[in-house]
Amino acid sequence: MKKIIIAIDGFSSCGKSTMAKDLAREIGYIYIDSGAMYRAVTLYCMEHDLFDADNQIKEEELKQQMNQIKISFKLDEKGLPRTQLNGVEVEDRIRCLDVSSRVSPVAALGFVREALVRLQQEMGKEKGIVMDGRDIGTAVFPQAELKIFVTASAEIRARRRFDELTAKGQNPSFEEILHNVEERDRIDQNRSVSPLRQAEDALLLDNSTLTIAEQKAWLFEQFKKATSHA
Ligand code: C5P
Repeated sequence: MKKIIIAIDGFSSCGKSTMAKDLAREIGYIYIDSGAMYRAVTLYCMEHDLFDADNQIKEEELKQQMNQIKISFKLDEKGLPRTQLNGVEVEDRIRCLDVSSRVSPVAALGFVREALVRLQQEMGKEKGIVMDGRDIGTAVFPQAELKIFVTASAEIRARRRFDELTAKGQNPSFEEILHNVEERDRIDQNRSVSPLRQAEDALLLDNSTLTIAEQKAWLFEQFKKATSHA
């Protein structure tokens, strides 16, 4: 069967990566979490003193160091990608709230997006890829054969994130998570370069009241339809 590109975009913490990962495993495609790449650049900035005392990014310095930031993925024993920053595994570190609260301003920088979009396009050259993010169907792969735009209410998304962190043994504040989710939505939707928006030809999925199993079945159905005329 001819391989296609599947773009899954949407708001923060709405379960895009869970569905993208599941689908990729089931159909034998590569899964790429583009958000992890923006998070890795943010972690690099934190580790290289590229935020000033007011938490503003030192843009010029980051621009000069951009070509020293190498991001890649290594598959673990379950076949899931683990993010590598300059050869060092950072998968867990990029998920902390500290990175979450700084990533959206970093992702709004044109030169950061240019570098990462180039890398993402390179990763999808052979097709057979499921990529999730904010601009995959609009900017990275506007030609993707299947585009999904996922949404759910901010409270539901924050609750899911809260439960996830609690299950990992952390002690998060729900208010802080909700604030982070809303703030990232705001910045992602209002930035001037590739703002978060639904592509005209994307299918809308509001998963507020869907179980993971229902969502999975729906997505698989869309994949079958898309490949039947690809
Ligand atoms: O998907 P995730 O929430 O991990 O992404 C982290 C952040 O990276 C988002 O809040 C957004 O600011 C940025 N991002 C982006 N474009 C993408 C993926 C993520 O701007 N394609």
